Amino acid sequence: VSFGYEDVAPAEKTARVGEVFKSVAGRYDLMNDAMSAGLHRVWKDVFVRRVKPRAGEHILDMAGGTGDIAFRMVPSGASITVADINPAMLEVGMERAAKRGIDGLVWTEANAETLQFPDRFFDAYTIAFGIRNVTDIPKALREAHRALKRGGRFYCLEFSTTLWPGFAEVYDAYSHKVVPKLGKALAGDSDSYKYLVESIRRFPDMARFEQMIGEAGFVRTKVEPMLGGLVAIHSGWKI
Ligand code: SAM
Repeated sequence: VSFGYEDVAPAEKTARVGEVFKSVAGRYDLMNDAMSAGLHRVWKDVFVRRVKPRAGEHILDMAGGTGDIAFRMVPSGASITVADINPAMLEVGMERAAKRGIDGLVWTEANAETLQFPDRFFDAYTIAFGIRNVTDIPKALREAHRALKRGGRFYCLEFSTTLWPGFAEVYDAYSHKVVPKLGKALAGDSDSYKYLVESIRRFPDMARFEQMIGEAGFVRTKVEPMLGGLVAIHSGWKI
């Protein structure tokens, strides 16, 4: 199991990812804006448009963190559960919801690998910028499949590998030189941001990840690249 540039035992990775998000929780939203120049908002808007939440549906936003995806789904009238392994991220999310006057969301601590929800419970499962932090990704995908109803949909937003010539090099330089410095300057923490950059580099490419979704039992899998695949939306259906 890789934790950034090192190989570590699975339990060790989970614990260290916990430390990363505990450390960044308070500055998480600011850092997303700073590092993506606000683009993460656009990607999340597109993502939720693809998911098409509807009133009466039960949706699980896994690795939901501080609520960015859930907040965007609230106007649909769907019942949304925000689940995350990290109580510090959920805490920030609940405070943000209270400030914005958003209620009705269910916030719960959960590990994507071992969900406490019954079989065939949700209409949709979303995970944004979360899956690459999970230690056992195939296990998390199988759990997503288990917790979805028949006819349910899986949607994942994640960094991937851009196929645009030249852009990959620029992005690589940016992420290795600029991101840890931004992390240090704005959040006083360059190591966490080094981990985040490395975890992106190590994540399977678009085709391979689509295949993994299929291996978990999903059908009609699809990938929609954005910025040549710098970020991608993967989806699949349970039948
Ligand atoms: N979805 C939010 C967003 O798009 O802003 C948060 C994304 S944040 C980069 C990644 C989140 O994944 C963190 O909140 C972290 O705690 C969570 N996470 C990491 N490993 C997890 C696991 N095994 N199960 C559930 N959540 C996990």
